[in-house]
Amino acid sequence: MNQSHPVIQNDVLEGFLGPRRIVFIVNPKAGVNLQKHIRESVEHHLDHRKFIYGIWHTEKAGHAAELARKAREEGYDIVVAVGGDGSINEVASVLLHTETILGMIPAGSGNGLAMHLGYGRDIDKAMRKLNMATVQTIDCGQLNGHPFINLAGIGFDGLVAKSMKGSNWRGFLPYFLHSIKAGLVFSPHPCTIETEDRTIVEKCFVVTVANGPMYGYNFKIAPDARLDDGLFSVVIFKTVPRWRYFAAIPSSLQGKIYEAGFVEHFTARQVRIRCEGANFVHVDGESIEMAGDLEFKMIPQALKVLVPRT
Ligand SMILES: [Mg+2]
Repeated sequence: MNQSHPVIQNDVLEGFLGPRRIVFIVNPKAGVNLQKHIRESVEHHLDHRKFIYGIWHTEKAGHAAELARKAREEGYDIVVAVGGDGSINEVASVLLHTETILGMIPAGSGNGLAMHLGYGRDIDKAMRKLNMATVQTIDCGQLNGHPFINLAGIGFDGLVAKSMKGSNWRGFLPYFLHSIKAGLVFSPHPCTIETEDRTIVEKCFVVTVANGPMYGYNFKIAPDARLDDGLFSVVIFKTVPRWRYFAAIPSSLQGKIYEAGFVEHFTARQVRIRCEGANFVHVDGESIEMAGDLEFKMIPQALKVLVPRT
């Protein structure tokens, strides 16, 4: 059989002669199991003239990073994390400073980064967006050596991450209920926050160091955060009566959290947090145990990402 490939016009393929190799790394335990139809979605919605695909499932914690490393070594052009911010974190952590491009299909509990980039919540639609996506290079953060792509920090949200960790019940409702519970039981400790140009001592309900602007479910914690400006947005919730945090939820959904009186925010390249008492730390929404000072470092232009066209 003597057939020639169709001529394809696509930025994604710029500089490439043939279809790109893409692999989907699927976390079967992420979110509310939207990813169970991933194979059908790939077969029906991915443009097979542009991509040659593989679908790999993770079998244990940490496996996504292992599979992403294998994909990189085998010369895949694009590695797609199918899961939430936690799955993206694992995959991205082995793609930093490489030519391998990160893609994502939102299937987690919190899909903050995918929502921000415009993938939406629907797996099939997100799959079609991959067909016409462009490549952008974004910054990453590092917390005591652990890379993060979206958000990291301590406080109330770290406690929510910790309580979600022990639970198999995923989705908006448990997230919401855990947040209310954490909102009631979390007790803020005095923190010292140092950046290259300021020192703040404050009893903090939340300290977020943001590369991207939002948690899952459209909660924008750092509406001004840009993924490619070489800066973190640091957002502090000072201690006020708790009802005021709950009352600020609507403004957070509208991207206006900075208007709340208890919020302080600024940008920084480097952040150190020292906190008295128990630290509830999260890195891209995953609870992590860390003792001592928390050192955040910006790694500019570290990761190539597929971004849907708007
Ligand atoms: Mg930034």
